[in-house]
Amino acid sequence: MKPSTPRRGSHRAHLTLFLGGFAGLLVLGLSLWMHVQQAAQVRSAAGMALQSVARAAAQALGSGLELSLHEAKVLAAAEDLWAQGLDRPEAGAALARHQSLREGKAWIGVADLQGRVRQATGGLLLGRDVSDRPWFSAGLKGAHVGDVHPAQLLASLLPAPADGETLRFVDFAAPIVVNGRPLGVLGIHGNWAWTARLLDQMLPPAAREAGIELLVYNRHGELIQSPGGLRSGGRDKQISPAGLQALSGQGPQVSRWADGLERLSVVLPLSNPALAETLGWQVVARQDLAQADAALAAGTRQVLTVGLLISALAAAAIGWMSGHLTEPLRQIAAVASRIEAGALALPMPQFPKGSRELDELARALDSMKRRLFGLHQAMEAQVLERTQALERANAELAHLSQTDPLTQLLNRRGLEPRLQQALVLTHRHRGALCLLLIDIDHFKRVNDLHGHTVGDRVLLALADQLRSGFRAADIVARLGGEEFLVVLTDNGTHRAQRIAQALVDSVAQRDFPEVKRVTLSIGVAGTDAVGFDAEALIHAADQALYEAKRGGRNRVACFPLPAGPVRSEAGSEATSAGPDPLPATQALDPRRDA
Ligand code: GH3
Ligand code: MG
Ligand code: MG
Repeated sequence: MKPSTPRRGSHRAHLTLFLGGFAGLLVLGLSLWMHVQQAAQVRSAAGMALQSVARAAAQALGSGLELSLHEAKVLAAAEDLWAQGLDRPEAGAALARHQSLREGKAWIGVADLQGRVRQATGGLLLGRDVSDRPWFSAGLKGAHVGDVHPAQLLASLLPAPADGETLRFVDFAAPIVVNGRPLGVLGIHGNWAWTARLLDQMLPPAAREAGIELLVYNRHGELIQSPGGLRSGGRDKQISPAGLQALSGQGPQVSRWADGLERLSVVLPLSNPALAETLGWQVVARQDLAQADAALAAGTRQVLTVGLLISALAAAAIGWMSGHLTEPLRQIAAVASRIEAGALALPMPQFPKGSRELDELARALDSMKRRLFGLHQAMEAQVLERTQALERANAELAHLSQTDPLTQLLNRRGLEPRLQQALVLTHRHRGALCLLLIDIDHFKRVNDLHGHTVGDRVLLALADQLRSGFRAADIVARLGGEEFLVVLTDNGTHRAQRIAQALVDSVAQRDFPEVKRVTLSIGVAGTDAVGFDAEALIHAADQALYEAKRGGRNRVACFPLPAGPVRSEAGSEATSAGPDPLPATQALDPRRDA
């Protein structure tokens, strides 16, 4: 029985799996590496974009504030306007003209040293006391820019912003000094919403689409400008003043905001150092990390798609190549298994485009096949020879088992099948056959008087006579001891009796060298009297032989035996009619061959 081997995958599948897996891993690794490279680039590009947006905003805001402060200073320093007093209509007209020159100024006014408003655009707050307003007290001392604050006195006089936001101002103030003598303070309320809108509009549309936001915080970390207005400022726009300070001027950084999200942020102070110092505002440009990395995700998707495509192509190519490489092996294996099944004459496959190793394998298999073929033939020849020897030995054994070793006649075992066959043939041809059961008379005496060896010689001499005295078709056998049996084929009892008698006479007259005289008794039984049963025939012949012995020996008795008492050799009564009337010199068998 073949040892059972576990079912295993093909060489081709292994190759494809191994090389395909290797290619897949390679592509994956490359994609990962490219992703990491790209990530750094994308972050850096996003950071640079934020940086430029923040810088532009800080610049614009700083310049705007500086310009307004400068305007306040220039207006306050126009001595010819104020030399004749603060209330001249020309001064009021100059203020109005100035307000209309540039957008974003909600109010321009002048207060005297007591804080009473003496000139105002739109006549708003004329005569009102503004001495407690910070711009006034600061403006008395010098040029001033104030933090963003909700409108106080003007809140009810000016229209509220359309977007619902609170009206907010940034105050600019400068002292009016004529000939070294202070006369009052010129104040400008810059409309913060307008400034904020300007800032908001500075953001390029692409930056807005990319989710970049511009925010402005004051020194206390309070949001003073946000894209959707200050009311939209939730936790997502809160950051600690310390955090803000830490990020300021540090370039693009990933920072965590109060809503827990991380954002890429650039924080810059106002571009004007003096204003930056005075106001402490921080301009923030920021972007959600996911949006900052969006380009990366798209890039990674592209790289992965291309990578997967390459992997699939590589796997297909490797599969095809593995098949191509393993095909010769498959063919050799097929031939090998057919050789195993016995097809030894099968030619080996040829691989003109194959490798040296394949040629060697095919050659080795071929020579193995030849050897196997040779061994197989030698083995077959050997088997044939052994079989023949065995058959010879068997035949020899059969012969020995059926032959009497002393006389080389058939023994009882050799006789039986031949007698059966003769009976069948005789019966088929409606013929007759007879048995002559022959026994040497007083043979014991021969042994006793002359010795066993002489007895053997007598047996041999009689055997020779029987062998040569009957036809080839007749069967001669030694049943044992000094008892022989002859099957006379094609003979009725009558003729057999005559032949038996001739034999008795012939032996009685023969001169045996050491013994001189030997006589035989023969019992005859034929199928015409007994039938075709071998056992019955022998039994009948035996009875006849017994009768011959009883009748005085050296004679023939025939079955059926004549009725009536027979005289024994010693003189007792017997039914036999005495010695056979046939002459003792009669030939053994008148029908004898050759
Ligand atoms: P009868 O006339 O009644 O047949 O007397 P017999 O002495 O021939 O018969 P018995 O059965 O008493 O003796 C047969 C003898 O044949 C006995 C044995 O010593 C002898 N004998 C049997 N086989 C052989 C043999 O192979 N060689 C020799 N030399 N003698 C044998
Ligand atoms: Mg006997
Ligand atoms: Mg005898």
